[in-house]
Order: sequence, then C-alpha cells, then structure tokens
Amino acid sequence: MAPLLPSTSLFYLYVVSAFIISAAVFFFFERRESEHRPDEIEKGLFGYVFDRKVWFHPSSKQDYYFFVVNTFIYSGIIAHFMISGHIVFNAFGNVFDSVLGPRQEALFTLSVFTSLAYTLVAVLAIDFAIFLTHYVQHKFAPLWHFHSVHHSAEVLNIVTVYRQHPVDLFITGTFMVVLTEVAFAFYAYLTMSEPAQLTIGGLNVVLFGFYLLGYNLRHSHIWLSYPRWLSYIFISPAQHQTHHSIDEKHFDKNFGFIFAIWDWLFGTLYVPKGYEKLEFGISRAEPNPFGSVVELYLKPFQLAWKEITGSKLFSRFAMGFGVAAVLCVVFSVAF
Ligand SMILES: [Zn+2]
Ligand SMILES: [Zn+2]
Repeated sequence: MAPLLPSTSLFYLYVVSAFIISAAVFFFFERRESEHRPDEIEKGLFGYVFDRKVWFHPSSKQDYYFFVVNTFIYSGIIAHFMISGHIVFNAFGNVFDSVLGPRQEALFTLSVFTSLAYTLVAVLAIDFAIFLTHYVQHKFAPLWHFHSVHHSAEVLNIVTVYRQHPVDLFITGTFMVVLTEVAFAFYAYLTMSEPAQLTIGGLNVVLFGFYLLGYNLRHSHIWLSYPRWLSYIFISPAQHQTHHSIDEKHFDKNFGFIFAIWDWLFGTLYVPKGYEKLEFGISRAEPNPFGSVVELYLKPFQLAWKEITGSKLFSRFAMGFGVAAVLCVVFSVAF
C-alpha cells in the first residue's frame, strides 16, 4: 500500500507535508502584489490548494486511470524483467578485483562517519543516474516518444509523477540499477565490506528528507521556488514545473531530480527569477497526441517506430542488409 510505504511518494507523511507546504506557499503569495503571484490565489486557501480546474481536469482524470493500470502492469510485468541489483554489484565487484587487483587492506575503516559518507554517495549515485537517464530520454528521439507520455500531462497533480510509459520506467529502472550498483561496488571494493546506508523506514535518510520537504509539489500547480543560490544546488518544485512547460525557453532544461549540480555542469540548468505563469504539455503548436489511456500505451511504439524507420541510419542499415541478403543468395546458388 503506497500510503504506508516511505519508499513511494504517496506515503502519507509526504502527502500531508505537501499540503502543509502548499498552505505556506498560499500565505506567502497572499501578501504579494497581484502581478507577482498566481491568479488562483484569489480563490482563497482551499480554492488554491484544491483547485478544481487542476484536480478534475481531463488530463488529471487520465492520470488517475493510468496510475491504476500502470501499477498492475509494473508489478505484474515490468518488475520481473528488471535486472537485479545484487547481480550487477557482484559482477562489478569481480571486475574491480581483476582489473585493479584484490585489495590487501581497506582504504578506510567503517565508522559512523563513513556510513554518513556512504549515505551521501548512494544519493549522489542515484541522483546522477536519474539525471543521465532523463537527459538521454530527451535527446534520443525514439526514447523521447516514450518519455513524452509523462510530458503530455496538461496539468500537474500528485500522481502525474506515475504517468510514465512502462518502457520509460524500464529504461529509468535499468539505468539506475546499473549506475548505482557500479558506484556501490566500487565503494565496497575500497572499504572491503558492504557498508549500510542510514535509513528511515528502510529509505535512505536523505531521500526521506527530500520527499518530506515538498517533493510532491513538483507535480502540482503550487509554485514553490528556492532562493536563487539554493536553486543551483537543489532542484526546486518550481524548477521541475518549468521542465514541463511548453515555453521554448524551458525546453530540455532542469533534468535533475534532487541536485541541480548536474544540470549546472551540463549547461541545462534554468533558474526562474520569480513567479512564472506556466502552461504544461508537449507543444503549443501541435495537439496532444495522447487522447486516451490506450493511446498513452500504444502510440509511443508507433511514433518510435516511425522515428527509427525514417532515419538515414535505418535506411542505410536496411540497404546494407538487403545487399548482404542478395549476396548470400547469389553465393549459395553459385556454390
Ligand atoms: Zn522530462
Ligand atoms: Zn515530471
């Protein structure tokens, strides 16, 4: 049950804290002049936080259906195909042993300090893996069609984060497991032991804090931005909302999950100067390609296939394959 699991964003404490922070955001904006705040502040506290235009928008209804169906698809199918973290960890442990040579003694011994360091290393590894996957999902056209399911949401709500095509989920999960387990295996190689992370309810303590401090607001209409300097270190909910914006100046910006440093390094960081009125979706020029939940599942395959077969690389590959097939037939007939 998601509301009882600290590892999911729907854990009740994260949901409650998101509503408390939403109320704080309302009181913050209420005192500001109307041109520097969302128009919806006029609706009052409940009208703003529980805005019917968001919660009952057709896009939100699509999210709710999609969430239910996807939960079954993920636990029934995708989870069985995910690569096991232990396999990657052990495989790379052997690689480090054979390439770098087995260690005679640990580089440093484990203590509370190293547990803290490992907890942070784990978060950095997970965070970089998510950033890199997200970057590739935007830059590599066939993968973009699967990721565009997430971006097709026209309003953002608490379950929009689960609006992810199973292929998108599989790719993110696989990248994450491989990249993080490589980092863990290297850490274990250096310390000659398997260190434990500091956890709350089984979840890395940094991740727990991250979820508790308004994670759910990044998929919402509540504008929570950080001071400018902090937005260079952490991705604020407002920064993720700009990632969903259909304004061209926001395209391919803010791929980060927790830390903004990766976007900063890759030149994809966007830091808002103040409140920005945003429209969400894929494009303003073209209609949303996903009119129904069925289309959310099937259309990305069709679009990705078109993309692949329409590429020059594919036509060259197909031509090469054709020539090779003809040569095989000619040779087999001749000899
Ligand atoms: Zn994205
Ligand atoms: Zn998102």
